[in-house]
Amino acid sequence: MTKIVLITGASSGIGEATARRLAADGHTVVLGARRESRLTELAADITADGGAAEVRRLDVTDRQDVIAFADETVERHGRIDVIVNNAGVMPLSRLEALKIDEWDRMIDVNVRGLLHGIAAALPHFRRQGSGHFVTVASTGAHEVVPTGAVYCATKFAARAITEGLRLELDPAIRVTTVSPGVVESELADSITDPGAREMMVTYRAHPLSADTIAGAIAYAVDQPAGVDVNEMIIRPTRSRG
Ligand code: NDP
Repeated sequence: MTKIVLITGASSGIGEATARRLAADGHTVVLGARRESRLTELAADITADGGAAEVRRLDVTDRQDVIAFADETVERHGRIDVIVNNAGVMPLSRLEALKIDEWDRMIDVNVRGLLHGIAAALPHFRRQGSGHFVTVASTGAHEVVPTGAVYCATKFAARAITEGLRLELDPAIRVTTVSPGVVESELADSITDPGAREMMVTYRAHPLSADTIAGAIAYAVDQPAGVDVNEMIIRPTRSRG
């Protein structure tokens, strides 16, 4: 069945790869992020390959914007089948660096952004009696590393919120948390702290491709309605942490 899939943070990395993969699988993808020109290029590629993609500039920290992202999709298509809450930032640093603005930004995007996505899709899923929430968390939702206290806290929170959602929801609505290890993307570009940047050179030396995570999301999305893939942790084979 062709699904209508909202993807936040679709302008690069895992979100972009997920958009390409789900569109190739025959789903209609609705792409949201702040860099609209990147989304437009991506949608043109998907369309040229015979897929269906729509674009909307989106800032997940703006509650009304995320609600409009969902509502406008329902106006066009009558429903939403999946929301992939993927948008995230990771400006790592040790707490003693007191990069308080960066702490706030991680909380705003990684936690509030996720909650906004849930709040936007949930009324439609309840009305429909079906739907699928996919949260892109992290191995940082399972373990804490130095420089990652706040980032990992946001990912622990994302996992807790998503699991709480699963437990509370009408059983016809599916909930999946995907926790990747290191993946090739633009994520580490947001690190401003020199020590954390240096650490990332070795830590991120052997990443998974974003396509691997897209494949995991596609697997969860394409299961029959009675099957809910709750959690996946996907690391590079050589990675232990
Ligand atoms: P990228 O930096 O490549 O992608 C992040 C995406 O989030 C971009 O599309 C960016 O778009 C979007 N984004 C950031 N802020 C906002 C905002 N305020 N509103 C809307 N969109 C926003 O990194 P990844 O693909 O790696 O990251 C995707 C997710 O995967 C994140 O949640 C990340 O934490 C998680 N993750 C990544 C891992 C990795 O090693 N790469 C490992 C584990 C988890 P734009 O700037 O255009 O708004």
